[in-house]
Amino acid sequence: MSIEFLIEARAGAARAGRLTTPHGEVETPVFMPVGTLASVKGVPQEVLEELGVEILLANTYHLYLRPGVEQVRKLGGLHRFMSWPRAILTDSGGFQVFSLNDLRKVSEEGVTFRSHLDGSSHFLSPESAMQAQIGLGADIIMAFDECTEYPAEPERVRASMELTLRWAERSKKYFEEHKNEVPWNKVSSFQFPVSGELEARNGKPETGNSERTQALFGIVQGGMDLALRKESAERTIEIGFPGYAIGGLSVGEPRHVTREIVEATVQHLPAERPRYLMGVGTPEEIVEYANLGIDMMDCVLPTRAARHGLLFTSEGRISIKQAQYAGDESPLDPNCGCRVCRRYSRAYLRHLYASNEVLAQVLNTIHNLSFYLDTMRAVRHSISLGRGARFLSEVWSRAKL
Ligand SMILES: [Zn+2]
Repeated sequence: MSIEFLIEARAGAARAGRLTTPHGEVETPVFMPVGTLASVKGVPQEVLEELGVEILLANTYHLYLRPGVEQVRKLGGLHRFMSWPRAILTDSGGFQVFSLNDLRKVSEEGVTFRSHLDGSSHFLSPESAMQAQIGLGADIIMAFDECTEYPAEPERVRASMELTLRWAERSKKYFEEHKNEVPWNKVSSFQFPVSGELEARNGKPETGNSERTQALFGIVQGGMDLALRKESAERTIEIGFPGYAIGGLSVGEPRHVTREIVEATVQHLPAERPRYLMGVGTPEEIVEYANLGIDMMDCVLPTRAARHGLLFTSEGRISIKQAQYAGDESPLDPNCGCRVCRRYSRAYLRHLYASNEVLAQVLNTIHNLSFYLDTMRAVRHSISLGRGARFLSEVWSRAKL
């Protein structure tokens, strides 16, 4: 078994589903917090559990450089290393490598790049990206793709899409030949280091099962060209994956273009497979994309914004650094039930931020994540009632300041 996906309710194009992974169930549509270096910056794993996080994203590129895939693999894989018993998804490293602009060189074989840490030279190919992701051992891993830059000439977009398709085939071939090498598949009796506490809290204990494998998702590219997106979707589906991602968006294009591409691409993806939109968005946007039939999303926005004092609330965005909050005894968001809003005032949060206290980043991140997760739960509830996320989208656009 790798994953199973069951759609439980529909409302228009939107779906409420249940994704079963080797490390637990994920209710969809889902927002996946980003834990770049096997850590959601500032938030301990037990708090993520309390927030109801069912799946996390980690970045292969960063973990490959530090602490190194082999180190994580020897320690039993990411789940055991970071003491996280629930599902994990890793990206292929491609997107980060392509963000290195001046430090990379692309060939048919793969990408040569220089580490942003020490300038050392590395090479990532579909095969080595699969090898790295198998060693890290996330439940869902991604094919190695080329994220096409924006804007780009039509010939360049096509060539890039064709390269991604060839790399998708190579990714799948390597994965099929090596999928049994995932670290948690080798352990006969899998135990988390915290003396069974995590298993107790999260249901059934982890046991080695030779049938459990990771799931490899394909990625649709094709730039901002609707015809190429359709072709990329069809040919990626021909290769055959248990789930499909839409990549190459949020790379600087106007938001209405992102929406148009998502809406058009989703129609070419198989209804019974999970659909993952990579690297989006604001609270309003994640509601909108769920409404278009997207099941999985990730974004650094809630965590990164939190560290800069930008907080999402049911009454609009708040920049907590502003002096107007210095004497404000009200909770950050009166409609939020998170541990931060239940306990602390805006005045205290403002003081922490202004004083550059570490706790400011911790508390701000917890609230923003809670807000995103609550938003997705509300969307799912709304879909289950047959109302669709559009209802919520309208609520949001009214709330947005
Ligand atoms: Zn809150």
